Amino acid sequence: MTIVKDSFYINGEWVKASSAETLPVTSSGTGELYATIPVGTVDEANRAVEAAAAAFTSWTNTSPKERGEFLIRISEKLGEKADLIAETIANEVGMPLGLAKGIQAGIPTATFADNGQRAMEFDWEEEVGNSTLVREAAGVVAAITPWNYPLHQIANKVAAALAAGCTVVLKPSEVAPINAYILADIIHEVGLPKGVFNLITGTGPVVGEAIVAHPKTDFISFTGSTGAGKRVMEIASKMVKRVSLELGGKSANIILEDADLAKAIPDAIFKCYLNSGQTCSALTRLVVPRSKLGEVEDLAVASAAGFQPGDPITGGTLIGPLVSEAQQTRVRNYINKGIDEGARLIMGGVEQPEGLPRGHYVQPTIFSDVKNSMTIAQEEIFGPVLSIIPYDTEEEAIAIANDSLYGLSGGVWAGTQEKAFEVARKIRTGQVEINGGGFNIYAPFGGYKQSGIGRELGKYGFEEFLEVKAIQK
Ligand code: NAD
Repeated sequence: MTIVKDSFYINGEWVKASSAETLPVTSSGTGELYATIPVGTVDEANRAVEAAAAAFTSWTNTSPKERGEFLIRISEKLGEKADLIAETIANEVGMPLGLAKGIQAGIPTATFADNGQRAMEFDWEEEVGNSTLVREAAGVVAAITPWNYPLHQIANKVAAALAAGCTVVLKPSEVAPINAYILADIIHEVGLPKGVFNLITGTGPVVGEAIVAHPKTDFISFTGSTGAGKRVMEIASKMVKRVSLELGGKSANIILEDADLAKAIPDAIFKCYLNSGQTCSALTRLVVPRSKLGEVEDLAVASAAGFQPGDPITGGTLIGPLVSEAQQTRVRNYINKGIDEGARLIMGGVEQPEGLPRGHYVQPTIFSDVKNSMTIAQEEIFGPVLSIIPYDTEEEAIAIANDSLYGLSGGVWAGTQEKAFEVARKIRTGQVEINGGGFNIYAPFGGYKQSGIGRELGKYGFEEFLEVKAIQK
């Protein structure tokens, strides 16, 4: 049965949309209609901002303990609804149910709890010479989020903003918005004061731009594509608003001569293909010693064979479909581009995977002998497509990793942790995983170069939502 949403959450209540226009949300595994959401207008976006602005003074003057307790209650309720959240996102995005429960439901639950704890334990004042430095909330936050890890990206902004004492207007992705409605229901249930959190859905150019441009939003926290991020920054610059941007990536995974390939290559495949490659920090360029190219290719094909896509709800597979038909077409165009530019296709391709006649599936695909100048090595594909790039010297490997407009993440595999660490320091990205290091929700996440501005998660992510005031004595 199709889920029908017809309201926005503004000033502590569900407000019916003024327009009858809706946007469809499709189920990625079947391509069928999963839900519809209302299309917000500029007027409705303005009302949401006014509500957040009116709520700011009293919310920011609550004690950090009170705010922390709200966040912990939200986290508990998210935990109780983990199955519903996982099923919703498995439908909206296509990540298989088991993984969605751990990642798409589990991580945001932990992020709300972490920010609750952080608000309570944070040192809000510091003495510097004859000054007392006071940390204060940045103000009214416009939070705009994408579809690939939808509730995680919402939690990174909303939990940290609320903990800091900010009020929020959230504009979630129109591609995967139903999880945001679940969060809004929880926020209503825990009794967060009216206006502190507001949810409005619709398109980026209308509702997104309206909340960015509104004179009463102080801080714009955006995650999405580099193109939309540039537009958001341009609008925000007219009023010198603070912006944080979490944008795209094209991350390199360097395999050094003495790396343990039996461990490195399966890990490399997983970190490229997770969520069908729709991960901003996916390690999509595998940079390998030329002398090891054949061995790496064999191991990569063998590992990738374990990633045959299947239905995200019933399939029991490691990867599901892509989020939408548009994304499937885009990824197939990149695969064709790779073939046209002379990369060697060693696995996968543009055909629909066998046994999956419908749904937005793409075969796990590997190119070898890729040159870093090729389109598939420079542009973010956002699909299960790995580019293996051979190198001759360690310096060349580092240069290849850094030869990118992006600077989000990276990987290094070496015979020792010390050597991997030494190379990791030379990569110009916000994160680097050495010898298979895993994602850490307490570590800052964000990019150098065109991957963005600012950090999310942990202490650094929380502090993004604060101003600092110096009071001289
Ligand atoms: P997108 O840029 O199309 O949309 C992201 C959000 O921005 C959506 O809510 C959309 O409605 C809104 N938007 C679009 N145009 C806008 C405008 N002119 N003004 C205001 N808002 C606007 O991105 P997407 O397709 O949803 O997500 C995929 C992209 O997100 C990829 O490029 C990926 O790398 C990036 N991403 C980055 C991170 C990170 O932390 N660095 C994390 C996840 C995804």
